[in-house]
Amino acid sequence: MPLGDLRRPRRAQREVAGVPVAESEARHRALLGALPDGVLLQDANGNVLLANPRAGQLLGLPRLEEPRGAVPAPRRGDGPVELIDLTEPRPFSLRLDEVNRISAAALRSGQLQSGLTDPIPLDGGPRFLQVTSIPLLGDDGQARAVVSSISPATDPAPAPDAPPRPAGGEDIFRRTMQHSPIGIAVTALNGRFLRVNRTLCRMLGYRADELQARTLADIVHPEDLAAVQTRIADLVADGFHAQDSFRLERRFLGHGGMQLWGTLVITPIRDSAARPVQLVVQVEDRSDLYQAQGLMTHMTLHDRLTGLPNRPLVLDRIQKALDRTRRNGRHVAVLQCDVDHFRVVNDNAGYEDGDEVLIEIGRRVAGALRAGDTAGRLGGDEFVVVCEDIKDEDEAGLVADRVRVAVNEPLILGGRSLRPTVSVGIALSDDSECDPLMLLRDAEIATYQAKSRGRDRWDAVDTTLRKAAAERLDLEHELRAAILDDELELHFQPIVELSGRQVIGREALVRWQHPVRGLMPPIAFLPVAEESGLIVELGAWVLRAAVRAAAAGADPGYVAVNVSPNQMIRPGLGDQVERVLADSGLPPERLVLELTESVMLSSAPAARPEIERLHALGVRIVVDDFGTGFSALSYLRDLPVSGIKVDRSFTAGLGTDPQCDRIVEALIGLGRGLGIDVIVEGVETEEQSALLAGIGVQHAQGYLFGRPSPRYELALSSS
Ligand code: C2E
Ligand code: MG
Ligand code: MG
Repeated sequence: MPLGDLRRPRRAQREVAGVPVAESEARHRALLGALPDGVLLQDANGNVLLANPRAGQLLGLPRLEEPRGAVPAPRRGDGPVELIDLTEPRPFSLRLDEVNRISAAALRSGQLQSGLTDPIPLDGGPRFLQVTSIPLLGDDGQARAVVSSISPATDPAPAPDAPPRPAGGEDIFRRTMQHSPIGIAVTALNGRFLRVNRTLCRMLGYRADELQARTLADIVHPEDLAAVQTRIADLVADGFHAQDSFRLERRFLGHGGMQLWGTLVITPIRDSAARPVQLVVQVEDRSDLYQAQGLMTHMTLHDRLTGLPNRPLVLDRIQKALDRTRRNGRHVAVLQCDVDHFRVVNDNAGYEDGDEVLIEIGRRVAGALRAGDTAGRLGGDEFVVVCEDIKDEDEAGLVADRVRVAVNEPLILGGRSLRPTVSVGIALSDDSECDPLMLLRDAEIATYQAKSRGRDRWDAVDTTLRKAAAERLDLEHELRAAILDDELELHFQPIVELSGRQVIGREALVRWQHPVRGLMPPIAFLPVAEESGLIVELGAWVLRAAVRAAAAGADPGYVAVNVSPNQMIRPGLGDQVERVLADSGLPPERLVLELTESVMLSSAPAARPEIERLHALGVRIVVDDFGTGFSALSYLRDLPVSGIKVDRSFTAGLGTDPQCDRIVEALIGLGRGLGIDVIVEGVETEEQSALLAGIGVQHAQGYLFGRPSPRYELALSSS
């Protein structure tokens, strides 16, 4: 138990090793009162239970004066043993804090401790105290209380830098300090804290002894330190001509990096020759005034969850590091650290635990770094590290390994132990123009590589890879804009009744009219759309445009729209379709959605109700690229499917590859047996068409009947 607190003891606590203090008091009074040494009795929490007059005097504790209200008689201050006034809230006593260091050690160790206190700053009493503390043990061998004897001691050796004693007013000063609502400290000229008051301790969150182990430089915000030091230098520099004090509005750092705003006033204490010997430091907490502003700055630059710098701040740190390193031939390293399989953790653990994991990983990443390096969070499970002054890739790799090892410590989540891993992508600045965004992008590319090479490793970006991946990223950004800027367009390909070749519907096929690359086929950009999630917006655009075109066209056929698995796994497609149909006035039976087999078989819980919903709306669903996916056919029975589109790879083999003939035949039989429509794709020749007609195929699609065309109506007939 720390002995930091001297609280008002409760009556019930006034018992030492089972013996009520009150009972034995009378007997001990005479004895204790006669002792030349101070005697102090404290409980295991450091509460002072008893102190003789000498102790009160040596420790500067307030004496008990007149009893207040119904304070019991034995506590009156006129007996041979004078108790200190314990009815007051904790009297601040630096001297008691000094004694506590020794008595706490006795309590902790259960053994007698004896020693000299540290020098006690000038407060009118002796500078050193000799303290001997004896723990009182209970039956279980645990210390229940501690008795200390205290006597004044002479300086063990005159301290060379011992400042002369300031003249006069000491007692008034001491009292002011004790009761001031302003944080007050006396420091040496070098800023070391000699005395601190309670308010300052509370403001900064330190105990007195902790604060006394620090200097002013530790509590002034690093960015403000230079300003404060300059002013102090001015203050103490030129004797008589010096100013009396200075005043600054500054940020302070408390325990655990806590920040506060305050007004700082520093006044020198001078000796009789007017030489400054110590400083009186006053800090008034003004945080409330600055809080709104400060909080906002903090919030906009830090990640809410982990408190780490966020993307804008990280970019700023990279820029500053680049500015500093530019001339010395060293590099800035940006390491992107992606948690491996975080989705799995999150799904299994739920969001709160997922957050816990992220907070802990953030802590570990930050803990693995040198001072001066930055750890930040870019969002999701992506962390970033910025290191300055890195020699080469291998040196950056060492940092990456430190991060990996730190993150990989076991972590208990929901009772299960888990060892998170990260994939790290490294980008190093080079001599050429190198901007923070580029470095961040390169690091991201290298992370992809580390992931694709098996995760839990680091990779540095290599230049060919950088080029390909950069293009991919550019494409993604361009595509995002293209969707908004209407650079996409739809082409329509007819689906015909094989016998009479009338058009019964049209498939909408997306194209991208790229300003530089020209008209791009879906294969050139759909994979990027799928990976980046842009497919959802793209799909919504296609749906709207296709339904509008069909509603505007004179032809009564249906329009078929391709739906990607990624559109199906999130709920909302049903609502979207309903809205689009309502807006355009297209009857639901004139809309067909083409889904791939993977969606039909998908275990995604969202897909099935969504499919049911679409069916209920009256929209038809066909299975696209039938035969290329899975061979499990049970979904044809379970789900409301109205047709299948036989993949064109089978059509291509018709007439030449007997296997293909037989497969197509079997598929037709299957469709017929289930009472669903069969459409054969990729019909290019009259021979294929004839063959298909021969085996009873009714509906087909292919270049033979019409190529995809930008005009809906033009697709009406083509041959
Ligand atoms: P799909 O749905 O199987 O579309 C048929 C593809 O076959 C189209 O290619 C079409 O141009 C092509 N095709 C049609 N007849 C013939 C033929 O006789 N011979 C040959 N060799 N090919 C023919 P496209 O337009 O390049 O589309 C490729 C794939 O991209 C589509 O395959 C579809 O899966 C996807 N796709 C196209 N538009 C969209 C869209 O708006 N959304 C989604 N999610 N996917 C789309
Ligand atoms: Mg299709
Ligand atoms: Mg297809």
